[in-house]
Amino acid sequence: MTKTYAVIGDPIDHSFSPALHNAAFLFTGLDCTYIAYRIPKGELEFGIEALKKIDIAGFNVTIPHKVDMMKFLDEMDNECKLVGATNTVTNNAGYLKGYNTDVEGFLDPIKKRKIDSKDSDVLLIGAGGAARAIIAGFSKEKVRKITITNRTRERADELIKFAQNLGLESDYLDLQSAGETANKYKFVVNATSVGLKGMGCPISTKNINRDSIIYDIVYVPVETPLIEQSKNQGATIIYGWEMLLAQAMKSFEIWTNRQAPYEAMKLTLLGRF
Ligand code: NAP
Repeated sequence: MTKTYAVIGDPIDHSFSPALHNAAFLFTGLDCTYIAYRIPKGELEFGIEALKKIDIAGFNVTIPHKVDMMKFLDEMDNECKLVGATNTVTNNAGYLKGYNTDVEGFLDPIKKRKIDSKDSDVLLIGAGGAARAIIAGFSKEKVRKITITNRTRERADELIKFAQNLGLESDYLDLQSAGETANKYKFVVNATSVGLKGMGCPISTKNINRDSIIYDIVYVPVETPLIEQSKNQGATIIYGWEMLLAQAMKSFEIWTNRQAPYEAMKLTLLGRF
């Protein structure tokens, strides 16, 4: 019988996930299909019941439900517990287990490049949901210190506490000073939505140089202003689409117990940009 998977969120009509997963199912010859299901904020409980009724095999969770979805899970894996949010769920006859593949999905492009993160200093721009998964990921890699810069100080302070509870050193820097001192960090990671569709650059890039690793998790456009400017200054670049692809591959592997088809999924994703 055909198995159906989904992504839930709102808005959902521009999600890359259906194309990515349907390509993976087609390529691996699995009798599965994947749909986008818009569930507005406040309607999650009703939406989950509907998914159970159609015996959904599993689903991805995106904005605004990644945290609220935790209430409806029967079980959680370690990363999901650590971050306090889920982006991947399996459904076994109504028993829902949550995972968070953003954590390993974020780390994957770093590991692929064989970059050692241990004991390094990180400048993290942003303090939303994605930033939380990134801190959890870097804590697994035992970085030394994460400095957080964000438009809203209170949100940064919450994440500083979160990082410290995971055993990391962590402090705050305002956005202006972050631009002035960006060359002091091994990694500069943008986890804000600044850069999205021509929104500009989250910090000044004047001090970014050949020794900097710039990781922008924004993936539309592929070359954000931060990436473009940092590339011109010789920095190593990690693209947002790489994280997007890696987290999707990990969801596929959780659901199917099979290796995800990297090339097919990458071609599909890049073809959509
Ligand atoms: P979120 O929880 O809503 O957080 C948004 C972050 O962006 C906050 O730090 C917010 O600062 C900051 N921000 C938004 N507009 C800003 C502006 N005009 N100026 C300065 N800062 C601004 O969102 P999220 O889930 O963390 O996602 C953040 C971005 O990462 C999105 O663009 C998303 O598409 C991308 N993402 C990519 C992947 C991937 O696989 N590549 C995975 C997850 C997310 P305040 O706290 O001050 O509001």
